[in-house]
Amino acid sequence: MGQWKQELEKAATILSRATRVTVSTGAGISAESSIPTFRDPGGLWDQINPMEAGTAKGLLRAFQTKSRIIVPILMTMLDRFEKAEPNAGHKALFDLEKMGIVRTVITQNVDNLHKEAGTTDLIEVHGNLFKMVCLSCGWEREVDRKPYIEMIRNRLSMIDVYDLDALLSLAVICDQCRSVMRPDVVMFGEAVKSMPRAFRVSAESDVMLVLGTSGVVFPAASFPVEAKKAGAGVIVINPTENGFRHCSDIYIPMKAGDALPAIVGKITGCSG
Ligand code: NAD
Ligand code: ZN
Repeated sequence: MGQWKQELEKAATILSRATRVTVSTGAGISAESSIPTFRDPGGLWDQINPMEAGTAKGLLRAFQTKSRIIVPILMTMLDRFEKAEPNAGHKALFDLEKMGIVRTVITQNVDNLHKEAGTTDLIEVHGNLFKMVCLSCGWEREVDRKPYIEMIRNRLSMIDVYDLDALLSLAVICDQCRSVMRPDVVMFGEAVKSMPRAFRVSAESDVMLVLGTSGVVFPAASFPVEAKKAGAGVIVINPTENGFRHCSDIYIPMKAGDALPAIVGKITGCSG
C-alpha cells in the first residue's frame, strides 16, 4: 500500500474537497466478497460462451441441451452469491456518502451488495438479481437474497429432466396475476436501465470514482468519459491496467477493498 501512498493522499485530498462525487462500479468491487468477475482469467466467460448463455433464449436452450455443463456452473454461482457479504470497499463508499462526499453510486453489478452496505442513491444499470418482475403484468417485488437462493438451489437439485417445465418450476409466482416472474437483470441484447439519469449524474459530478470495472462493457464504460468531458476529476482504482487510463487524473492499481478504506482513513485523519 505504501507504494501508492502519494496517489491515495491525492485522491483523499480531491475527494475531501468534493461534494458531488459519483461512483461507477463494476464486478471488481464484489471480487473481494468472493463473487468472481466474469471477464478476468478463470471467470464465467472462460467457462461458457456469453453470446450463447448470456441471453434469455440462449440460457433456456443451454439449460435444456447442456445441463451437465450449465447446472454445476449455476450451482457454483448460487453458492458465491449466497455467501457474499458487503466488503470493506462497499462499506467505505457508504462512509463517504455519510460524510457528504459521495452522492450517487452507478453500478453494473446485480448482487445487491451496495444496497446491503447502506448506499441510498443507487443506479443499477444492469438490474438486480433479487428484484423480480412479472412477465405478464409487470408487477415488481424484491426477494431476500439468502432464502431466495436457498429455494432456487433446493428446487434445482430436485429436477430430473431439464425441460421448460423444470425451468418454470424455479420461477417466483406473481402475487397479482399468478404468472411467472423473472429476475430483473439485463441480459445480452436487452436494454440497459436508467441511462438518462446515469448520464445526467455523471455529467453533474465534480469527481467520478471508477472502481472495479474494465471499461469494455458499454454503455457503462461511457460514464467516466462523460464526467471528464463535463470537467470532473476522474479517479480510477483497479489492480490491473484498464480502459480508463486515458481519462483518469489519478490511477491507483490496488484492490478497492484496500484502497477505499485507506482513502477514508486519510480523510478522517484516522490513518497515516
Ligand atoms: P468488468 O468488465 O467490469 O471487469 C472487472 C474489473 O474489475 C477488471 O478490470 C478487474 O481488473 C477489476 N478488479 C478485479 N478485482 C478487483 C478488486 N478487488 N478491486 C478493484 N477492481 C478489481 O466486469 P465483468 O466481470 O466482465 O462483468 C461484466 C458484467 O457482468 C458486469 O458489468 C455485471 O453486469 C455482470 N457481473 C456482475 C457481477 C456482480 O453482480 N457481482 C459479477 C460478475 C459480472
Ligand atoms: Zn403478474
